[in-house]
Amino acid sequence: MEEIKTDVVVIGSGPAGQKAAIQASKFGKKAIIIEKSPDPGGGCLFAGTIPSKTLRESIIDLTRFYERRFFGPEGPIHNISIEDLQSRLGRVIEEEKTLLYRQFRRNNIRLIQGVARFENPNVIVVMDAEYRLLYQITADKIVIATGSIPRNPLDVPFDKEVILDSTRLLRIKRIPKSLIVLGGGVIGSEYASFFSTLGTEVTIVDKMDHLLPFLDSEIGLHLQTALTDIGLKFLGNKIPKKISRMKDKAFVEFEDGTSIEGEVLLYSLGRSANVKELHIENIGIETDQKGYIPVNALFQTVVPHIYAAGDVIGGPCLASTSMEQGRLAARHACGEEIHYFPTFYPIGIYSIPEISCCGYTEDNLRKMGFNYEVGRAYYYEIARSHIAGGSTGMIKLIFHAETLEILGVHVIGRAATEIIHVGQMAISFHARVDYFVDHIFNYPTYAEGYRVAALNGLNKIKHKK
Ligand SMILES: Cc1cc2nc3c(=O)[nH]c(=O)nc-3n(C[C@H](O)[C@H](O)[C@H](O)COP(=O)(O)OP(=O)(O)OC[C@H]3O[C@@H](n4cnc5c(N)ncnc54)[C@H](O)[C@@H]3O)c2cc1C
Repeated sequence: MEEIKTDVVVIGSGPAGQKAAIQASKFGKKAIIIEKSPDPGGGCLFAGTIPSKTLRESIIDLTRFYERRFFGPEGPIHNISIEDLQSRLGRVIEEEKTLLYRQFRRNNIRLIQGVARFENPNVIVVMDAEYRLLYQITADKIVIATGSIPRNPLDVPFDKEVILDSTRLLRIKRIPKSLIVLGGGVIGSEYASFFSTLGTEVTIVDKMDHLLPFLDSEIGLHLQTALTDIGLKFLGNKIPKKISRMKDKAFVEFEDGTSIEGEVLLYSLGRSANVKELHIENIGIETDQKGYIPVNALFQTVVPHIYAAGDVIGGPCLASTSMEQGRLAARHACGEEIHYFPTFYPIGIYSIPEISCCGYTEDNLRKMGFNYEVGRAYYYEIARSHIAGGSTGMIKLIFHAETLEILGVHVIGRAATEIIHVGQMAISFHARVDYFVDHIFNYPTYAEGYRVAALNGLNKIKHKK
């Protein structure tokens, strides 16, 4: 067993942990990351963001999805195998891993492999998989960044082929003919659209009557239509009563007496924080009702020198937000100036078509009694979209009808997750919507849609352009 003394220890090497350790090291602190998996990267690299987005890109390329408008719905594709999809995945993960190791080396961050557990508020022990003690680390500051895993209720008979969560799904041996997705949240909607694009018969089931209820409702409706167009079936207002495996099929009985069967079932109803192995009860930290670690606005737990960031503290549970939480936590831990976590940040949903939004929805503003106006640009009005073979999509700008300040930007369609950042900047700098009319955009681009949407909105009110 090795005894170590250090300035900052970070538990977990996902996006939150990486950025926390790098930030601490930039301030000249001795930083150590403890990671229980064989390689660093977290759920983000091995089970979440990176695999799912690589899969999406491969599916779009291999099915030549955007060429369907030119070649017809059958397109020039055939016989895509799971190996085709997985080979790209393996390569991307390797490249990202190499990059991470390089970043840790460059920043003098020591990576320790093993399971971390609190002995007391300043001492962490690290064990191997057989619970043999490897290290005892004493640190001035600690950042918990242990992330989350899919929720696996005991009454759901998960296995490796038929009844799966989002991590198990990545190891399937063939593309299923039919897929049931339980849960119309972000992960469920993304995977449902990927498999539907591949030609799998997909049914997505949710207790609500529509997918992704936090979206601006017009964007939500647009999504539902687009998903129906690629063959996806949605069953709303359904609560699963029993999930079972019958021979080689998944079988779901619902509370309303109906049932459904499919070759594969993706159970996508929630995630759980990774806290079990930490023994935080040894140091007086209690989780909240949902199992997450409560923190203040500076990401401190009830024990002030112990911080927590990323999925382990609960929503929004994104890699993007986790990175910033980790960075901010480390800045405060190192006694450096920090800003509060931004009020407005983009949310990217990589369904096919993709969606991204930032700022208020119409529903929010209506409830708050704002005098707002909306400008829309449909992708069928945008030359770049015609050239690229896509027609589904919309850029929606919501702005104050008197001051013209931009209050919300919602995009569905190709490149949505990229062009949202134009809107995000506009919101952050309190820009007025006429900025988009009075400035030049590259043509043909998707971003030009901001100008079209701004003109549409301004022409509805007294500020005609
Ligand atoms: C299918 C899917 C798709 C997603 N897509 C997106 C997306 O497109 N965009 C986006 O922004 N976000 C996306 N996310 C969310 C994103 O992956 C997570 O928000 C992000 O990974 C959280 O980062 P983290 O650092 O908190 O934790 P994680 O990435 O989960 O990393 C935590 C690490 O801590 C380690 N650990 C846990 N306990 C211990 C312990 N006791 N000792 C040592 N190590 C420990 C774990 O092994 C893990 O490596 C997606 C998630 C999923 C599941």
